[in-house]
Amino acid sequence: MIRRLFARLLPGKGKAGDTARVYGRHDHPIRQTALSPGALQVTRRLQEAGFKAFIVGGAVRDLLLGIVPKDFDIATDARPEDVKPLFRRAFLIGRRFRLVHVHVGAETLEVSTFRAAQTGDDATDEHGRLLSDNVYGSQAEDAARRDFTINALYFDPATEEVWDFVGGVADIRSRRLKLIGPPTTRFREDPVRMLRAVRLAAKLGVAIEPKTAAPISKLASLMANVPPARLFDEMQKLLLSGHAVETVKSLRTHGLSHGLLPLLDVILEQPLGQRFIDLALANTDARVREDRGVSPGFLFATLLWHEVLSTWNAAIARGDKPIPALFEAMDKVLERQAKQIAIPRRFEATIKEIWALQPRFMQRSGQRPYRLLEHPRYRAAWDFLALRCESGEFEGELAGVADWWERFADAPHAEREAMLRPDEGPTKKRRPRGRGRKRDEGGEGATPESEPTPE
Ligand code: ATP
Ligand code: MG
Repeated sequence: MIRRLFARLLPGKGKAGDTARVYGRHDHPIRQTALSPGALQVTRRLQEAGFKAFIVGGAVRDLLLGIVPKDFDIATDARPEDVKPLFRRAFLIGRRFRLVHVHVGAETLEVSTFRAAQTGDDATDEHGRLLSDNVYGSQAEDAARRDFTINALYFDPATEEVWDFVGGVADIRSRRLKLIGPPTTRFREDPVRMLRAVRLAAKLGVAIEPKTAAPISKLASLMANVPPARLFDEMQKLLLSGHAVETVKSLRTHGLSHGLLPLLDVILEQPLGQRFIDLALANTDARVREDRGVSPGFLFATLLWHEVLSTWNAAIARGDKPIPALFEAMDKVLERQAKQIAIPRRFEATIKEIWALQPRFMQRSGQRPYRLLEHPRYRAAWDFLALRCESGEFEGELAGVADWWERFADAPHAEREAMLRPDEGPTKKRRPRGRGRKRDEGGEGATPESEPTPE
């Protein structure tokens, strides 16, 4: 407590190098013009009001590496309550540690006040994980509490200088990802930094420095203490980075895949599941890189599919009816999952819909195919089916079921009629055509050709 008070009273006192090495505009390639209008405007306004204001973190790193930044974060010595009144559209966010979100046009800029890592006996849990967020501090302390040296660089748009307290510029030049401070302590403070190391290395094409990499596999189990919502955010970033295949491979090499996704290890050990996930990730990477939309719901549906499949098959083997068994399997898998990574509810609906539509692709007679084509999730569900086919999940004629649907979707009416299969199976007598059916439920009793049940 007392130490915390001191930290607050003596903001200039920090362990890291207290002075920055300043790189002038001729020593690095970043120019003002590389910034977004909002980033320029917000830093300028803060500086005009007499505060320090820098672009910090990921954006500076990306610009130095020649990558276009996703967004621009701003660090300042102004307190949130001093920042807010400077802007028309500014909002205080965060409970424990307040930040200001400034909206400029369609942009949102995150403005955070320099802070220091909290120290003291009550700052961590028994594994060394930092419990509370931090206290205000000097710029040098702000640099030192960041994760990697290349993430701790500050760019002043007015002077076009890069300020470096931790040797980040040198590490950028030698393309090295290095934790600030002693690796074991820093990973214990926040185990998510291990995931970030692997993700950033793959995304940036830099190497994790050996001293930083060394403790990762030993400390991997600490990931279990990370709150599920936090893990979800980080996993989502990782999987939607455009480098998912590489990152997941590297996670495995570092012993980090264990426990991150439910039974991801089990899935990865099944030849069928592995191929499916590899394809799904490669497909996602391609979409991200081509700037086509990626739905996290779709992605999580693929990652969990083989879990659902084996739970479903086990129920069928016990004699359960296929469709109710599928719905039960879906709930079971999602429930188990929620304990590890909290998938937000808004994605759950998509995931379930994609899964629930799968048996309906097996029905290729009568009016049902026409109805399925009109389903709002048809496209996503078909993409999913195509991955299943490509991964070798089906045998025989069914291996081509996705192609059948692709042809059917585009064929003229007469051709479609010719493609339809003879009406067969138990659903025939069920209901009058097209009435009283609930579209979204995958159709009760919907497995005339029966979903194949790979062992
Ligand atoms: P990306 O480009 O993927 O967003 P990023 O480095 O910008 O990568 P953010 O999560 O946006 O990642 O974090 C912004 C900055 O905050 C980082 O650059 C780093 O300085 C700091 N930071 C983020 N996470 C941590 C952490 N777990 N521990 C310490 N510092 C962190
Ligand atoms: Mg960022």
